[in-house]
Amino acid sequence: MEQTNNRNETDHGIHDECGVFGIRVPEDSDVASLTYYALISLQHRGQESAGIAVNKDRTINCYKDLGLVHDVFTPHTLASLGTGTMAVGHVRYSTSGSVTRENAQPMVVKHVKGQLAISHNGNLVNSFALRRKLELEGCIFHSTSDTEVISYIITRERLHCGKIEEAVARAMDSLEGAYSLVIMSPAKLIACRDPFGFRPLCYGTREDGSIIFASESCALDAVGAHFVRDLLPGEIMISDKDGLRSDRRHCQRKNIVRENLPGESVTSVKAIPAGSLGTEEDAVVEQALASLEGARPVPSVSAHCIFEYIYFSRPDSIVDGISVHDFRVGAGMLLASEALVDADLVIGVPDSGLDAATGYSKKSGIPYAIGLIKNKYIGRTFIAPSQAERDNLVRLKLNAIRSVIEGKRVVLIDDSIVRGTTSARIISLVREAGAKEVHMRISSPPFLNPCYYGTDIDSRENLIACHHTIEETAGIIGADSLAYLSVEGAKLLAKEDISSGRGFCCACFDGKYPTNVPEEYSKAKLEDY
Ligand code: SF4
Repeated sequence: MEQTNNRNETDHGIHDECGVFGIRVPEDSDVASLTYYALISLQHRGQESAGIAVNKDRTINCYKDLGLVHDVFTPHTLASLGTGTMAVGHVRYSTSGSVTRENAQPMVVKHVKGQLAISHNGNLVNSFALRRKLELEGCIFHSTSDTEVISYIITRERLHCGKIEEAVARAMDSLEGAYSLVIMSPAKLIACRDPFGFRPLCYGTREDGSIIFASESCALDAVGAHFVRDLLPGEIMISDKDGLRSDRRHCQRKNIVRENLPGESVTSVKAIPAGSLGTEEDAVVEQALASLEGARPVPSVSAHCIFEYIYFSRPDSIVDGISVHDFRVGAGMLLASEALVDADLVIGVPDSGLDAATGYSKKSGIPYAIGLIKNKYIGRTFIAPSQAERDNLVRLKLNAIRSVIEGKRVVLIDDSIVRGTTSARIISLVREAGAKEVHMRISSPPFLNPCYYGTDIDSRENLIACHHTIEETAGIIGADSLAYLSVEGAKLLAKEDISSGRGFCCACFDGKYPTNVPEEYSKAKLEDY
């Protein structure tokens, strides 16, 4: 896949904003190291900064810096965090706010009732208005990320209510957009997901009784935890000395009545006894929802980001009940059904095009082979001083295997096309390796719209599909033919079921935004005023 900006010239991916993680263990232990392992497994979600905050005896100690997880954390810095009973971690790629140390997370806030550490994945669509309102009320911001806006709102609510989880619930009434949060107070670990469930968030347990929240299930695997389930859109989960509780006042009705799992108890605005969500709850829930005067309406259908399956998430993760690997293989199979071409060989663009390539081969019967090799040792910090050198980066990052490709009619599978420049270079590599024909197949629909929910698909100007037909694009990138997966096909693979409330955001493809969106948007906007 291609890059959309010039910050990572060696990288050809659209970027997700962040990965979040939190752990609560029964006894004081080395939670910093566990969080470090988890962040390594979430590194694909953000490479600009990393941070860990550890809670020992109700005091939060945080270390964060710009760079990859293994650059930020040395044995010395990890040891300096000490032991504790809770920790939160974060990896960041900025789609809101610039690349500065101040914007790194977790964000730690001190207030008169204690401390908070917050890790956030996603983008608010109303952060500009919320920030301006807070500033007019006297708040002074130290960063440009919308996470600080969230921190202020939660802190302000906390000063007027007795419990941090209640403050989070009240704050959610103000927030609009995408947010998966892991929050650590002196005594509690809290995770919450926006009512649309844009960004993933799941939880798991370890045999020692630890509770873990993470952006993706691969992070649970990294710390030896057992995946339990995804958080419901709108759900707040609270882990403290009394156990694990779920507050579903911001969940869609169909989710509120979902069966409870062992070990969880459910609360709402008016507390519902643990495990009692049965025949009586409808009335209680109605009453609870009605009492949220002025609260943001709860959506009737979720809007999970479909691009998590296509590109962002790791293939070994399970996101909202679907294996990312299975989705990608299925996308390749559907592509073969929707856009079959007579060819000799199927190859994929590493890494996220490979699963779809195997699927295309399986369905079409055209042999699959590894035709492109990725140089794993070119880091994102690789410096290419001139434009000419930057133009050659695809050659440094990818190379074609002539003995596999020469003389063949090749189906080349990638996950997306942004500007077309990277696709053109890859096709050129494949032709130079002797391909007779190159038919490009893309395992996502064409990008036609920006994303406001935590990715950097942010300008129609840069999207080739906005300005050219598929045939024109094929000509520009030098392909003999080009086809994309349909939006309907992607939704089918994600098992969209509107009648049960399971919906997906496909706005960057179909322009149907689940929320209000800002008229003008740029991630640097908070710095501009
Ligand atoms: Fe995901 Fe696209 Fe929706 Fe953004 S606009 S949340 S990338 S599907």
